[in-house]
Amino acid sequence: MKPKKHELPKLKYQYHELEPYIDATTMQLHHAKHHQSYVDGLNASEEKLAHARETGDFSSVKHLKREIAFHGSGHFLHAVYWDIMTPNGRALDHEKLAQAIDDKFTDFTGLEREFKATGTAVEGSGWAILGVRPDGVLELYSAEKHQNLTQWGTIPILACDVWEHAYYLSYQNRRAEYIENFWKIIDWAAVAERYDRAVS
Ligand code: MN
Repeated sequence: MKPKKHELPKLKYQYHELEPYIDATTMQLHHAKHHQSYVDGLNASEEKLAHARETGDFSSVKHLKREIAFHGSGHFLHAVYWDIMTPNGRALDHEKLAQAIDDKFTDFTGLEREFKATGTAVEGSGWAILGVRPDGVLELYSAEKHQNLTQWGTIPILACDVWEHAYYLSYQNRRAEYIENFWKIIDWAAVAERYDRAVS
C-alpha cells in the first residue's frame, strides 16, 4: 500500500512577521529548507519501508526505522513549533491549562523559568517541549536531537527549536537570548487548543 504523503504545513504568518525576535531569513531557511527536508526524508523512508513490506525484504529495517524516527520527529515537532508562535505573542486565557501549569510549576512564572533553563541546557541540538502525559499531567522535558529521549505517550503542546539553524543568523551562540525572545511570541491560544485536544 502506498503511504500517505506528508506535506510542509503552511504558516499562519509571513516569514518577516516574527521580527525582531526571529529574523525573516532564518524563518525562510528553517521552514522552506530544513522542515521541507524532514518532510521529503519522511516520505522517502516510508516509501522504502512500504516496499520492504511488499517484498518481505527487511534487511535495511534498522536504517529505515531510524530515518523515520529522525524525519518524523522533525516534521511533527516543527509543525508544533510554527503553530505555537504568533507575531508579538498572545497571552494565556484558559482556566484549565492555567490550573495545570500552577499544579505542576507553582505558577506561570515557574513554568517560564524552568522552560528557559531547560531549553538553554540542551546539549547540542534539540528541543524544549511541554507535553501532556497520558494521565493528563503536564511534563516539561528536553530532547537532545529529536530522535532520542522521546517520552512515549506524551503529546507535545509547546515546542521550542534550539537547533542552531533556528537562531544562529541573528543570535550566533546566544541561545538563551533567542529563548527569551521566543517566549515573547508564543501563541498561548494555540497552546491551549493543543492542550484541550490532548486531554480530551
Ligand atoms: Mn529546526
